[in-house]
Amino acid sequence: MTFENNEIGLSVEISGHLVDRIREAGLAHYPNEFGGILVGEYSKDKQTVKVSETILPLTYKSSKVSFDRGIDGLKESLLDFYNAVPSRIYVGEWHTHPNASPMPSWTDILAMRQIVAYEMVNINNPIMLILGLTLTNSELAFYVYLNNKLYKYENI
Ligand SMILES: [Zn+2]
Repeated sequence: MTFENNEIGLSVEISGHLVDRIREAGLAHYPNEFGGILVGEYSKDKQTVKVSETILPLTYKSSKVSFDRGIDGLKESLLDFYNAVPSRIYVGEWHTHPNASPMPSWTDILAMRQIVAYEMVNINNPIMLILGLTLTNSELAFYVYLNNKLYKYENI
């Protein structure tokens, strides 16, 4: 699947298989929110990010309307991905919105802002995947945080 935003000229690629795995992880915690980290690589021109893995958090706090992942073990997992061939890095975050649309909340926007400020994450434009989730359905939306603004990617 490819998502892009014409205004900023950036796009995201993700396999249906990874989306299925993310959906399953989300359903396992339904009706509470759940989430994780997105790992992948950038194209040479930096315009496209290919998301190829997720790291599920070892520790987290979640409720029906909130999700807060911990950082336990994260540095080590990311280092393993970085040192592997091909080298892959942190590219963003995903979380579910059980029984709700995949629209970012104010808290979600603040979280993206904090991620950019966090020195371990060496990227300026992390992506956010929100999965609106019911037991029978799911709706996917990708956003990118760039220059203090959140842009939505359109499915193409
Ligand atoms: Zn949210």
